[in-house]
Amino acid sequence: MPSNSYDVVVIGAGTGGYVAAIRAAQLGLTVAVVEKQKALGGTCLIWGCIPTKALLEHAHALKVVQNAQEWGVVIPDSTPAINMTQVHTRKDKVVSGLTKGIEFLFKKNKIAWIKGTAQLAGPGTINIVDGDKQTLQAREIVVATGSAPRSVPGIEIDHKRIITSDEAIHLPQVPKSLIIMGSGAVGVEFASIYRRFGSEVTVIELLPRLVPAEDEAISTELEKSFRKQGIKCLTGTKVTKAVAGANGVELEAQGSDGKTQTLSAELLLVAIGRGPATAGLGAEAAGVAMERGYIKVDEFYRASVPHISAVGDVITMGKGAHPQLAHVSSMEGILVAERLAGQHVRPLNYDHVPACTYCDPEIGSVGLTEAEAKERGFDVRVGSFPFGVLGRARMAGETEGFVKIVADRKYDEVLGVHMIGPRSTELVAEAVLALRLECTVEELIKTIHAHPTFSEAVAEAAHATHGAAIHM
Ligand SMILES: Cc1cc2nc3c(=O)[nH]c(=O)nc-3n(C[C@H](O)[C@H](O)[C@H](O)COP(=O)(O)OP(=O)(O)OC[C@H]3O[C@@H](n4cnc5c(N)ncnc54)[C@H](O)[C@@H]3O)c2cc1C
Repeated sequence: MPSNSYDVVVIGAGTGGYVAAIRAAQLGLTVAVVEKQKALGGTCLIWGCIPTKALLEHAHALKVVQNAQEWGVVIPDSTPAINMTQVHTRKDKVVSGLTKGIEFLFKKNKIAWIKGTAQLAGPGTINIVDGDKQTLQAREIVVATGSAPRSVPGIEIDHKRIITSDEAIHLPQVPKSLIIMGSGAVGVEFASIYRRFGSEVTVIELLPRLVPAEDEAISTELEKSFRKQGIKCLTGTKVTKAVAGANGVELEAQGSDGKTQTLSAELLLVAIGRGPATAGLGAEAAGVAMERGYIKVDEFYRASVPHISAVGDVITMGKGAHPQLAHVSSMEGILVAERLAGQHVRPLNYDHVPACTYCDPEIGSVGLTEAEAKERGFDVRVGSFPFGVLGRARMAGETEGFVKIVADRKYDEVLGVHMIGPRSTELVAEAVLALRLECTVEELIKTIHAHPTFSEAVAEAAHATHGAAIHM
């Protein structure tokens, strides 16, 4: 095989692309990955999951120190504050350690890293148009070019006053005030970070509640907690105009009652979602069917052109919004690699995708919300258990929130689990397995949960679903 010819060429080294590449190489295929950034890992490692969660860990550390007195920790003569230089130094160290880790895995698995921007150029052909300019030949192409921040008409992102998450992770100073447009995971995570760091934070959400994709009970609990922390929440409110000036941003927002108000802040963070990164890829010219810039794929991630697959944030499966999550892209990458290596694969079940939001308090959920289960015609029963009753939560001083189970009354099957509160992003793993194994509420009850742990809230919520929690 010529040196620029591979079994598989992956375009994009995010969590979709690099995981697909590793799995394909493990299965004996020759693999190259084209990546235009200077580091591997894509949005997740460089601008997304990793740096934001690192900042949230700093926020959590500050919270603990701010409550030092309660913990009996003596910090004489000083008010705890955040040092952004040290915050970024630590965060960047975490990020670079992980991106270098992927470089190591590429070497270990003999994956070629081609540095540059890829363009589809006819069957099995990819042109690298900058960086290591060359033409690659591939038996199979996997597009994993991901997504990029987007705005709405009338709001121009200037990356200085009107910013995206790409800037919000690098702010050299804590802004005095920050308005966040959008209350999805990205919006509420930055709200938690900068409120804890000391900013005046306002979250504006077009829909009637925060984290609108979550179960309604979760939204209510989060808004209650945010208000207690001093985060202003304007739900059912549309930002109609935003103008950046030398010292800040002025914006107009219209409530559901039609009334308009003017707000101002040092910064406006636009966190209303992300669009596909397909500009300049040459996908349309290569005959690949697209929808609103996303690559259309079937349940095995095959694009409309033979020997081209696509995974991750860049795809649409034509059935509502495709979840733009790192773990989803990775699972899709593995599935594609296994298919290309000739293995039998089965489609993923998107009802079993966990959603974790690392705001304070954390949210972890999987499966159907109560409303979705009713819409699908289930005879639904639900049960909730508050963390505040648990010994483990009290010890940790983290007593907000609850675990809620949504189940089918007829067969007792667990249809969804929704939690907000301490360690929810970890606890949700048990719920994911429960859904995958089509577990009943009875089986959750009969599963022994260690004491004292946060996980007891899951067992107690199962008891509550059957009528009575033990400790309530
Ligand atoms: C602030 C933030 C926080 C997030 N937090 C979480 C979280 O906690 N958990 C979670 O699951 N998800 C989170 N996400 C989402 C997650 O980052 C994405 O779902 C995931 O990165 C998608 O992976 P991907 O491989 O599809 O694309 P990406 O990670 O976007 O990778 C695509 C790669 O392709 C490269 N590329 C694009 N075009 C070309 C080209 N033509 N040639 C060469 N290279 C190209 C890009 O440079 C990029 O490196 C977060 C996102 C953001 C923005």
